[in-house]
Amino acid sequence: MTQLKFQQAPPPTEKDMMPTLNKVVTARNCYYYLALIERFWRGMDAMTRDQQRLYLARAEFRYFLWVRAFDAKRMPTPPLDIAFMWHTHLLSPLRSYEDLALRIPSARSVLNTNMPLENLHREKNGPTKDTLMKWERIFGATGEPYELNANNMVYGNYCNACILCKHEIRLPWTTYVGYRYGENTTPFDHPCGINRQINFLDVARMKLEYDLTPKGDTGPPVAGTLLDPSGIPRQKPNTMVPLIVPLVHIEPQNEMDYSYELQIEDKLKSLGKKYEYDANELLYAIRTCYQGNPSPFSVDLIHAVARQRKFYDAAISMDWSTANAFASAIRRYHDFLMLMKKDSSLVAVPTIEIDCAWHTHMLFSGPYRQFTRNYLERVINHDDTIPEPSLKKFTSDTCRAWTLSPTRYWIAVRKKKEILKKTFALFFEIHFIFTLL
Ligand SMILES: [Zn+2]
Repeated sequence: MTQLKFQQAPPPTEKDMMPTLNKVVTARNCYYYLALIERFWRGMDAMTRDQQRLYLARAEFRYFLWVRAFDAKRMPTPPLDIAFMWHTHLLSPLRSYEDLALRIPSARSVLNTNMPLENLHREKNGPTKDTLMKWERIFGATGEPYELNANNMVYGNYCNACILCKHEIRLPWTTYVGYRYGENTTPFDHPCGINRQINFLDVARMKLEYDLTPKGDTGPPVAGTLLDPSGIPRQKPNTMVPLIVPLVHIEPQNEMDYSYELQIEDKLKSLGKKYEYDANELLYAIRTCYQGNPSPFSVDLIHAVARQRKFYDAAISMDWSTANAFASAIRRYHDFLMLMKKDSSLVAVPTIEIDCAWHTHMLFSGPYRQFTRNYLERVINHDDTIPEPSLKKFTSDTCRAWTLSPTRYWIAVRKKKEILKKTFALFFEIHFIFTLL
């Protein structure tokens, strides 16, 4: 294995000369973030495709166990697979907020806890005794090993309670993977299924059925409908949700969205135009958060991890050997946020170095939400599922916005004689934002 790039200490920085944003987007944290994803992808590269699939399916489930058991005071440093899933979830800041704050009971404290990047880096060669002790105390009864690897991941069973009838669903991991990757749809015995059988497309369907049902005095917790466009909980819940009857028979099974579309369209005929926004929101939510996704989360984390690979390949090939590389990333990220502040309709597309600082910021979910709400008046979403044609347009919009922007650090670095003056001006601006907090 070739040497890893980010497994030493971060490059030394002169105190007070490095820009930081919101206290958490620092050169050190960006470095630790790159170290985390390098360690994860190097591990993946050493596995076969089948092993990778098994690893991801188990990692997603282990992250769920992590969320369910979360208690900020008692948690160990997370193992690599859980840390990577947690990070992937946070890279969808609106969906993860819905899941952790509004949909999964008692998960809110996960959101208020920062990703322990420094501890993850410190324990890169293995967990401390303290970490293992805490793991054992919280997860010992589950039989889950601290470190998930190619040698231990085939052992044990997927085991989770049915969301509707609470009856246990238990399957060997190797069988579960087939369901999770859509390769196996064979029904297995289960008491609340049609003919007392279900497969994992049914599990996804039942998740939506469960979420369409009101709970206590809160509205139905349908993922994708709980926030307004600025990322804060809707004052007035989606009006279409309570009118929809959960579907039990869906044919073909993998077109759940189509079956609901027919019902939504039918309702709209009598309801009129004022329901159109909510109808579209609900249908989009069903398509992106429920369709084919039996996991407890609104993001299909296994497939979201796969999308992160492109970012890793691009980020790792950049030169991050000096502190200046990180300083530049942080300054440009700051300017990038300024672009979005000036034009709230702009869907800004980041460069890789900006994205590195942005990802780091999102791993501190509480500060990220607070900062973007304070300064941009909305929680900035990060969406890596934008299709290619739209992405091209948004990239060209972003380029135009950069050329019109007065805070062009990238021009400052070209004019070397002026650099000191301009750089200090920017430092001030970044620190200015940070001191306001
Ligand atoms: Zn059931």
